[in-house]
Amino acid sequence: MSARPIYLDCHATTPVDKRVLEVMIPYFTEHFGNPASVNHLYGWETEAAVKQARQIIADAINATPTEIIFTSGATEANNLAIKGVAEAYFSQGRHLITVATEHHAVLDPYDYLQGLGFDVTLLSVQPDGLIDLTELEEAFRPDTILVSVMAANNEIGVLQPLAKIGKMCHDRHILFHTDAAQALGKIPLDVEEMKIDLMSLTAHKVYGPKGIGCLYVRRRQPRVKIAPQIHGGGQERGSVQEPFTPLKLSDLGRR
Ligand SMILES: *Cc1c(COP(=O)(O)O)cnc(C)c1O
Repeated sequence: MSARPIYLDCHATTPVDKRVLEVMIPYFTEHFGNPASVNHLYGWETEAAVKQARQIIADAINATPTEIIFTSGATEANNLAIKGVAEAYFSQGRHLITVATEHHAVLDPYDYLQGLGFDVTLLSVQPDGLIDLTELEEAFRPDTILVSVMAANNEIGVLQPLAKIGKMCHDRHILFHTDAAQALGKIPLDVEEMKIDLMSLTAHKVYGPKGIGCLYVRRRQPRVKIAPQIHGGGQERGSVQEPFTPLKLSDLGRR
């Protein structure tokens, strides 16, 4: 009687794997130092743990550790990517491209930017859920600065052709962002091969805890600039308290 139903909603969230929990537990109680407290053992041991976590994530997507910016999840990562790039590159162009079937954590930041005066093209999808690459081709403009296309759809699971989209953007020196919250651990993700400049990830879709995720931000060829969306502290490369200097399009052409 009243057995709990079998859980079949892993695209919404997953349980924390017991092995993950086991690794995490000591950091709530024994090793609780602030990883930014670099003057004592308590800080050093958590700093080492953060460093290890950053390396593991970087290895999973063929990135380097300094390209991984920890966030509270994919919603924050998407906001940081989209608004951060728009703010950093608006003097080079105000046109942005995304897809009608993106997660709201992508669509809503684009809506917000449209309200600020950016021009957003929303690509449609074909009956199979895939975007039409010809439609993307025709959407590109000289003032396009960013394209966001998700890796795997959270409702129907369709996989967009990331490597093809990446190449099309790369050839035009346009930044390519992908929300890969549903793809990590299911399909190979390689930011070099797929020419991805920014990638959003979250732990709770892959048997990790809620409340942690990250944004991959390419540092070489090109070095992608993002304007911080949260100020104070200077953690995570201050994503950052660096004085904000808008890039020129010519700076984007170095890959
Ligand atoms: C779950 C999900 C998000 C939101 O992730 P949070 O970490 O909960 O903020 C964003 N995009 C996609 C595709 C998702 O599946």
